[in-house]
Amino acid sequence: KPRVLSLVQPTAASLHLGNYLGALRQWVPLQDDHDAFYGVADLHALTVEQDPKELRQRTLRSAAQLIAAGVDPEKSTIFIQSHVPEHTQLSWILGCLTGFGQANRMTQFKDKSARGLGDQASVGLFTYPILMAADILIYKADRVPVGEDQRQHLELTRDLASRFNHRYGRTFVVPEPHIVASVGRIGDLADPVGKMSKSSSSPAGIIELLDEPKINIKKIKSAVTDSEREIRYDLEAKPGVANLLTILSALTGTPIDALVESFRGLGYGDLKGAVADVVGEVGGAYRERALGLIEEGTELEGILAAGAERARSIAAATVAEVYDKVGLLPR
Ligand code: ATP
Ligand code: MG
Repeated sequence: KPRVLSLVQPTAASLHLGNYLGALRQWVPLQDDHDAFYGVADLHALTVEQDPKELRQRTLRSAAQLIAAGVDPEKSTIFIQSHVPEHTQLSWILGCLTGFGQANRMTQFKDKSARGLGDQASVGLFTYPILMAADILIYKADRVPVGEDQRQHLELTRDLASRFNHRYGRTFVVPEPHIVASVGRIGDLADPVGKMSKSSSSPAGIIELLDEPKINIKKIKSAVTDSEREIRYDLEAKPGVANLLTILSALTGTPIDALVESFRGLGYGDLKGAVADVVGEVGGAYRERALGLIEEGTELEGILAAGAERARSIAAATVAEVYDKVGLLPR
């Protein structure tokens, strides 16, 4: 079976609608015909300041949400990144193959550091894409389901895999991105030109799936649109309306054209009402399942322990192979 790998960061108490549509929901069908590795990237979360107690909670909550979204521990390996220390070992080796100029071209670092961090941005945030490359390459994953926001990082990963293979002989699989074009990127409700993001969206702009449904309904009803009245899909001129159409289409499976047709003569309030209804439906079931797992606890711990064990057995073999190839002296 081809292998897939994808991780989420535990940077918030709840995952958001962008994570769900752009990532988690796509993971579910892949586990049927792939050897799937899904996890929580707690080391990545440390690239910005975290409260230790909160980070631990969020890591567990994120793992519960993968399962709530439909990832099945019987089919997929579910693990926590820091439980597999080999990721950071490989990351060092890959960092030594990455040009400073190439790392410096990563736009997410620029976006994130520009949004408030400025000179306070950590070296960890800068080297984050290299650790992400290690996360993927260490399992020799064939495909990586990610949102559009990660495309550039995946390009770097592919580049590093090829460079290593070229220099030291065939070792890594050069992974393909798996991006569902129609839901490539969910926008921030309050600032739809920007992406919905755990770390940079304002509370009004983000649909947190573990929030009470009524809070999310209110946010959808207050979503920023434009001063026209016509419902049509125009990403440039009408990013807010386009975003609502994207969300509705992704959640209902109705193509955007058909939605636009069905809203002919209706107003933005009707569109928002329809979005609020489906988000409420999907969010309700998700919330119940995640909160149940978090409360119960021991089942989730067992799943994560088994996941770490399987992940480590593969990761350790890759690191041994890499250490040997680059010329490190065996112990
Ligand atoms: P952070 O702001 O802390 O980076 P994030 O909101 O970007 O958080 P991640 O944990 O980095 O979320 O990403 C998890 C997955 O969700 C990734 O595969 C990413 O591509 C996807 N994703 C994140 N935001 C969006 C979005 N707005 N639309 C579609 N997919 C998204
Ligand atoms: Mg992100």
